[in-house]
This record gives sequence, C-alpha cells and structure tokens, in this order.
Amino acid sequence: MLGLMHAARTNGGEEVVTVTVAEGVHRYTYGECAARCRKLASALERWGMQQGDRIATLAWNGYRHLELWYGVAGAGAVVHTINPRLFKEQIVYIANHAEDRLIFADLSFVALLEDVWPELTSVEAVVFLCDEAHMPKTKLPKVMCYETLLAGGSDDYVWPMFDERTAAGLCYTSGTTGHPKGVLYTHRSSVLHAYAAALPDAFDACARDIMLPVVPMFHANAWGMPHVAPLVGAKLVMPGPYLDGKSLQKLIVDEGVTLTAGVPTVWLGLLAHLQATGTNLGGLRLAVIGGAAAPVSMIETFERDYGVRVAHAWGMTEMNPLGTVNGPTRATAQLTGEARWAMEAKQGRAIFGIEMKITDDDGRELARDGKVSGHLLVRGPWVVERYYKAAQPAVDADGWFDTGDIATLDTQGYMQITDRAKDIIKSGGEWISSIDLENAAVAHPKVAEAAVIALPHPKWTERPLLVVVPASGQNPSKDEILSFLETQVAKWWLPDDIAFVDEIPHTATGKIQKVALRERFKDYKLPTV
Ligand code: AMP
Repeated sequence: MLGLMHAARTNGGEEVVTVTVAEGVHRYTYGECAARCRKLASALERWGMQQGDRIATLAWNGYRHLELWYGVAGAGAVVHTINPRLFKEQIVYIANHAEDRLIFADLSFVALLEDVWPELTSVEAVVFLCDEAHMPKTKLPKVMCYETLLAGGSDDYVWPMFDERTAAGLCYTSGTTGHPKGVLYTHRSSVLHAYAAALPDAFDACARDIMLPVVPMFHANAWGMPHVAPLVGAKLVMPGPYLDGKSLQKLIVDEGVTLTAGVPTVWLGLLAHLQATGTNLGGLRLAVIGGAAAPVSMIETFERDYGVRVAHAWGMTEMNPLGTVNGPTRATAQLTGEARWAMEAKQGRAIFGIEMKITDDDGRELARDGKVSGHLLVRGPWVVERYYKAAQPAVDADGWFDTGDIATLDTQGYMQITDRAKDIIKSGGEWISSIDLENAAVAHPKVAEAAVIALPHPKWTERPLLVVVPASGQNPSKDEILSFLETQVAKWWLPDDIAFVDEIPHTATGKIQKVALRERFKDYKLPTV
C-alpha cells in the first residue's frame, strides 16, 4: 500500500493507462487510483471481508486489477492471482486449497468460471471487472458488478496498521511435481523486492519512465512491476489481454513506453511484427526478458536493430519472483562482439537481498569459476520459506531453497542456467508436467513405458517429446496415442512428436534417466520446427 500512497502523494498526477477487455482505453492518475482503492477496501469490508481472507483474481493486467492488489492487501486481506492458463482441474484445486471467498474476473473468463463453478467449495460470488452496462449474461448463480460494488464504498477509508509480515499476495506455481503449490508474499517481502527490482542494475526505473508490464500480474506478480512503478512514480501502461506483436508495438509507441518486461515468446511475436511491417519501438530503452532463457539472437536483434537494451532476468514464483538481472558492470561493459553476447545471454547477477550458491549432489558448495555447474540454491527475504499450508519447510536448516535449476556462477557474480533438475517443461512461459503427460500416456493399452523430455523450440522455448516403449506385440501409431492423450490433457500440453524406442534408460533405483534420454535426443528435430 505504501508504494501507491507514495505515488499518489509525490506524483499523484502521473497516469495509469489500461487497454481494457471491452471498454476501450482507460486513463486516470495515481491520485484517482488511490481514492478508488480506499473505496474498494471499504466496500469489501462492508461486504464482510476480514483480514487474512483470500480474494482471488482471474484478470489481465489492468487498472481494476491494480486496485484489487492495493485495496485488498491494504485492508489486510490476501490477493490470490489465479493463472487462467492453468487447466480446469488445477484452477479448481487452487481456488479450493486457498479457500478463496470471492473471484474478481475479467469478462474473458465467463465460460471458464461457468465451467469450474460447480466444483468450487468456498467461493461466495464472482465479481466482474466492468460497469453495469457490460455485465455478461451468465449461468453463474452469484455475480456482482465491480463498479456497483465500488460505488458502495467510501473514499475516506483509513488504512489499518498491521505487522509488515502480514500476507499480501498468494500465487500458485505449477512448476513443481504434484499439485500446484501456493507461495505467500508478505507486505515486507513485496516492498523489499520492489526496492531491489527498481535499482539501476535491475529494472533501472525512475519517475521519468513509462513502464509496460507485458508479463501478466497472475504470472509471479508481473515480476513486481506494478509495485515498482508507483514506488518510483513512473507512468504505468497495462496491456489488458492484447499481447500480440501488433497491439504491443502500437501501445509502446502511442504511450511512449521506455521500460517493459515479458517472456521470450511474447517478444518473438513483437519482433516478427516489427520485421514484417518495418515499424519500430519508439522510445523503448530497456526490455527485461525472463521466465525462460532469452535466446542470444533475440538479445542481438533488440539491441542491434532497435537500440533497446535487454536485461536478461531469472527468478521464480517462489522468489516474488526476481533473483538475478543481467546488467553490465564496468568490466563487462567493455566487452564487444561474441564475448558481449555471451555475457548478456547469462541470467545475470543476484539483485541485492538474494544470496546464491551452487552445490554438487551431496550438497557441497562448488566453485564460482563460470565452468562447473551444480544445483542452484537461493536465500533471502523474498524467498519462500514454506509453501502455503505445507507441513514441512521448503528450505533447508540454513534457509537455502533449492531452485531445481542447474547453473554456473562466474567470478564476477554472473549466473547462467545450464540445465534443470526438476522434471518439468516450460513452454511459452507456462509449465507442462512431464510426469502427468507420462502417466496419461502409459494409461494407453498399447504403451508399456513412456518418458517425456523437453526439446528446444524457436517459438515456445521448449516443447515436449514423448518417448514410448510399445507394449509387447503392439505397434501403436502416433495418431492413436495423440488422440488418446487429447482426452486426458489440455491441448497445448500435447507432445509435438512421439518417438518409439525399444528401451528407456533407468537409474539404479529404477527412475527414468532423463539426462541420458535428453542426450540421446539432443539432435532430434520436432516436426513443427
Ligand atoms: P516460474 O515460477 O513459473 O516463474 O518459473 C521459474 C522457473 O523458470 C525457474 O526455476 C527456471 O527453471 C525458469 N526460468 C525463469 N527465468 C529463466 C531464465 N531467464 N532462463 C532460464 N530459465 C528461466
């Protein structure tokens, strides 16, 4: 709350611009935003919201979503940002696990909500983020209109005082095995994270900036951008659901965006649009790229062809999410040619607050020589200590959290991800569970054993390859396995190809040797590539 109040007092006339789902472009100031946050908090308290309650959102980046972040958390309740790209069972699971009382939803998600509603156990109503004129026709039994709810609040609401370690946000990650796991962010962790993220070697944000978070607020807090912008007093531009290259280029130029952040897949769309149309990026000076490895070619194109510096960043939902950002030091700023691209392709140096180390399989710390790679462990005030409602801590006795990533650390502090120990695939910034896909595949009567590995993909960064050992005497076709899988998993999870083998390698304890399998298929070309 502090950040927004600060913006309202010190740069209250600065704008927040939103491309809404159905109501065109909306503009107002931080001052107006802060007043509406107070109204929202007061309306929700009148409705019966208590401190600590979980209030969910299914929403794109936009001003009403911003009001929910500050209004709900400022009143002492918890904003649970649900990722609408998860599939139905996961959404039902996390809403029930979080015991969400309300879901605030954009109009894009009416059908999704109708689908999940019968299985939700704690949600009392859905509030649509629109005015009365745009309320959808829906089968949902309990719906409210956001603007009508807000009108019932009072803008002389006084923010309550509470401990800085009070929970403010909740985000579930599906980048783990089993059910998605919840990560709670406190007011303290969010503010400390925003301070560090704003620094010159991280987002390099200031009051003269115009910030465009392309990364969604439901994807690890839009990497803290909606906290950083008010903290420094920068203009904030919210793209709503329009994340294609054409819409982003127009928004960047029309609004004078200087600073943006998103996953590689989104930037591929933008760069393809620029190349096809000969358009440019106006005054954009810095693009933060993370969530998946930024390809060197992408970094080069941004910098060489469009004069936009790239800051490659790495983090996790478990880290609020920032861990490292790649910014030049006095030494690395001197690099040219290949050496410069190689340095920029690294995931960067830890931002202040985060400690990192790499270890071998037995937990012994490894050298920071830029060559030897090991398990990447992190520690710091915005690193998860325990997943939401989990019995066991997520960190070891010394507070280190194992990221599941394999990395090198060099003498100058730059970290580079070289592999992933966790058995999961990241496609376009979203997780695909290899284990769930394998379980779905072995349920087919003609499949004896199945393993799923990630292969590099130019658009989606990674896509799944399914490796199958046919059941004895069987000769299944790719199509019959794919049609079978279609009934079990979301369409975007379907493997891009299936490879039939006689045997899958195993470890001594009977686990599939994914490393050996990845090595065997490292030159395999997916049909869609
Ligand atoms: P999430 O919690 O969905 O943000 O996913 C976090 C995981 O995404 C990390 O543990 C990495 O495996 C991966 N990741 C995030 N950023 C990068 C990056 N810049 N390069 C490579 N992998 C990344």
